Amino acid sequence: MNRGYDTGVQTFLDKFGLTLKVSAGNGQCPRWGHERTTGGVKKCWHGDHYRITIRRTKATGPSQRTLSFDFWGDHFSPTETGYAPNADDVLTTISWDAQASTDPDEVAEQFDGLFSSGDPMKPSDAIAVARFARRLKSFFSAEEIDALNDIG
Ligand SMILES: [Zn+2]
Repeated sequence: MNRGYDTGVQTFLDKFGLTLKVSAGNGQCPRWGHERTTGGVKKCWHGDHYRITIRRTKATGPSQRTLSFDFWGDHFSPTETGYAPNADDVLTTISWDAQASTDPDEVAEQFDGLFSSGDPMKPSDAIAVARFARRLKSFFSAEEIDALNDIG
């Protein structure tokens, strides 16, 4: 789905020779707090599970060719259930993750114990955030991460 504005996502992908593919997942829930109580009933607020694959098509840049990770449809916009994420949603979200420290203690300090959604970040979450930041920082070059931050 096109949200109707140009955030420079395609320019980013083209410039660095990257492609981004969104595939259907297996219906799993995210490991972070995913339930909200509405009208006395606990319900998942995230959308469908997707697998994201970013592929490097140019020989230049870091040597790792692909990066795959889990993503949830409306992590971004909890009111739109069944909304399939596009490259814009994915890159905007991971630009947040790429700014995180690779040290869990620093992550907790950096984000004041809160996710960008305002949900509390448990120590196990801080470890997961740091681990994902490490994966992103080894796949993307420093220049790519800077460009990613400009999108996010
Ligand atoms: Zn859930």
